[in-house]
Amino acid sequence: MFQLDSVRHRYPGGAELAFPDWSLAQGGRAVLVGPSGSGKTTLLSLLGGLLRPSAGKVSLAGQDLGALPPGKLDAFRGRQVGFVPQRPHLIASLTVADNLRLAQYLAHLPQDSQRIEAVLHELGLAGLGNRKPHQLSQGQAQRVAIGRAVVNRPALLLADEPTASLDDDAAEAVVSLLQKVADEAGACLLVASHDSRVKDRFETRFALGVSKEQAA
Ligand code: ADP
Ligand code: MG
Repeated sequence: MFQLDSVRHRYPGGAELAFPDWSLAQGGRAVLVGPSGSGKTTLLSLLGGLLRPSAGKVSLAGQDLGALPPGKLDAFRGRQVGFVPQRPHLIASLTVADNLRLAQYLAHLPQDSQRIEAVLHELGLAGLGNRKPHQLSQGQAQRVAIGRAVVNRPALLLADEPTASLDDDAAEAVVSLLQKVADEAGACLLVASHDSRVKDRFETRFALGVSKEQAA
């Protein structure tokens, strides 16, 4: 489903991050581990097409992301990738349902209210579609962010440290929910986490280390 080929990234003025040639097959489930600063968020951003690598190739569903011009990359990403960021980043002025509708719009997909209803139902958010983000609990907002990530049935679902601020029961529930929605969407799932409660739930583990250059 995704394939990395000699991928490196260097932020302006920063050390170079080099990523192994990892790949995940369709339907795969994996956790991405590594200490803070090892490049987990960077790798998710590269896989999600939010960041272009300084060198190497990222392929998703057989498509080389680097070969897509910006406009096409946006639509491709909108359809193929669901990204659950560390914080929900919902649009404050839009209702919950419209936050999901925006994801359909940005992917150039037809408006599908039934799909939105079904996703909200699946996430235990039925009846909250007309609320604004400030009327949600933190846990509800996180589930809306998960809903926004899966509403277009992406091929790849990425989640960045989704359990960092949660207690054991809530962390367990979020991982189960991510696995359930990935199953339902037929998506690959990659979760970045240094949380042992998450690590133990995945058979496939990609581990990033800190390079000598970064440690220096
Ligand atoms: P992780 O998610 O594993 O904590 P990150 O991918 O956020 O790691 O960061 C990897 C490295 O890149 C760190 O050294 C971090 O300081 C640096 N970095 C991350 N984002 C930026 C940025 N926007 N500009 C410059 N350096 C960055
Ligand atoms: Mg991070």
